[in-house]
Amino acid sequence: MIAESLMQRLSGIVGPRGLVSRDELQQRSAGVWGPPRTIQAGGLVRPANTDEVAQILKLCAAVGQPVVTHGGLSGVVNGAWANEDELVLSMERMHDIEEIDPIGRTMRAQAGVKLATAQDEASAAGLMLPLDLGARGSATLGGNAATNAGGNQVIRYGMARQSILGLEVVLADGQVLDSMNALLKNNAGYDLKQLFIGTEGTLGVITRLVLRLLPAPVSRETALVAVPDFDAMARLLGWLDQRLGGQLSAFEAIWGNSYKLLTEGRSNLPLPVGHDFYVLVEALGADPATDGERFEAALADALSDGLIRDAAMVKSDPERVALWEIRDDVGRFWNLSPMYMFDVSLPIRSMPAYLAGLEQDLADAWPGAQLFVFGHLGDGNLHLAICAGPADKSGRARVEHFVYAPLGELAGSVSAEHGIGLEKKAYLQFCRTAEEIALMKTLKQTLDPHNVLNPGKVFDLPDTTN
Ligand SMILES: Cc1cc2nc3c(=O)[nH]c(=O)nc-3n(C[C@H](O)[C@H](O)[C@H](O)COP(=O)(O)OP(=O)(O)OC[C@H]3O[C@@H](n4cnc5c(N)ncnc54)[C@H](O)[C@@H]3O)c2cc1C
Repeated sequence: MIAESLMQRLSGIVGPRGLVSRDELQQRSAGVWGPPRTIQAGGLVRPANTDEVAQILKLCAAVGQPVVTHGGLSGVVNGAWANEDELVLSMERMHDIEEIDPIGRTMRAQAGVKLATAQDEASAAGLMLPLDLGARGSATLGGNAATNAGGNQVIRYGMARQSILGLEVVLADGQVLDSMNALLKNNAGYDLKQLFIGTEGTLGVITRLVLRLLPAPVSRETALVAVPDFDAMARLLGWLDQRLGGQLSAFEAIWGNSYKLLTEGRSNLPLPVGHDFYVLVEALGADPATDGERFEAALADALSDGLIRDAAMVKSDPERVALWEIRDDVGRFWNLSPMYMFDVSLPIRSMPAYLAGLEQDLADAWPGAQLFVFGHLGDGNLHLAICAGPADKSGRARVEHFVYAPLGELAGSVSAEHGIGLEKKAYLQFCRTAEEIALMKTLKQTLDPHNVLNPGKVFDLPDTTN
């Protein structure tokens, strides 16, 4: 529980509008993903600006109060989970886009801006924010930075890190670090923003960002293709990358049984169910007159070479939206029970053997186990949805072992894009060396000596209270 006296002092900083009580909190959803649950934290503050964040952290550091930062709560690894002794610092009132510079092609914004809002504003200025993911309507820019989010266009534009030029961060002791660089080139000393990107709110609270924007694409070509086997799918990736001259921006693989589940109850399917593999392919270009022809020709040649079996070209924006809706509707997997979802990465060439081994392990343990696969294949990133085992801790631990244990030897990662949070911390050692983890802990202890920022996430620190 958080002491009433501390809540009153916090109220003095943020005012009554900025404070949410524990009772009210228990009506609030703890996240947009997975089975419904409510926030269990001891209290929630909603600062309106960086200065208030700084005052809150200064006070919390002084009394040793743990703080968990909340963005849009779309994270999927329990990185924003807070217990009753922890204070939530929500970025929900810090949602201003401060400036778009059309010449320098940058956006300056507060961390609580939703990704979809930032995308829309960039687009209204004739530019593009290339970061995109299914949770765009909930996720915030600060959350995207804190998780180094990736998503649908990483193959062409990279992860969030590639779109972030500068950050403003409040450190654990309340100091404000202004690193709001807006230059593309700035090699003056350490690039400190990188310490806070992908470190899941454990080293500082991100309050403002400078994002790099790109010219908006003028053409967008999208298709769903059916592919005969994994080998053809892997070759198609290289083929399209080469034939489209670098315009390939999405290569979203969907295994046949996943497509069947994702399309159940939908009408006018772009392609019928029954194929072994499907790929949603998208290319962004600058010349509508020739881009469409090049895209169609590349797919036609792939068809005659046997790399694809069938293709459905998107002819209108509503068709495109409907196609992406199928790909993004992965919340449907929660209709199965028990359901365990994973996000891993590994070299593309190792995927068939990895998946065959996993399927075998699951079938040996639980006949009738179901493995659904989809993901950003072009980035070596697979999402796995596994319906198997008992719906309890032991079932989860066994499924996790089957999924994660082989990844070390394959030079893979237990987290491609979602981070570690609470959910994967037991497995960090499967894909990071002891020296890497030791340096992570040194950084944490240096920047947050009293362990007040998102404690217990990513890894545990030795208990120093005795
Ligand atoms: C349907 C769906 C699809 C998704 N698709 C993708 C995808 O394609 N690619 C991908 O990478 N992710 C994906 N995600 C996961 C999620 O959307 C991302 O991790 C996103 O970046 C989280 O942003 P958020 O604002 O919701 O953060 P939250 O969930 O609120 O927080 C996530 C973590 O960041 C920390 N944090 C949040 N804001 C700040 C801040 N301002 N300063 C410091 N720390 C902060 C939190 O403490 C927590 O540790 C998906 C999620 C869903 C539900």
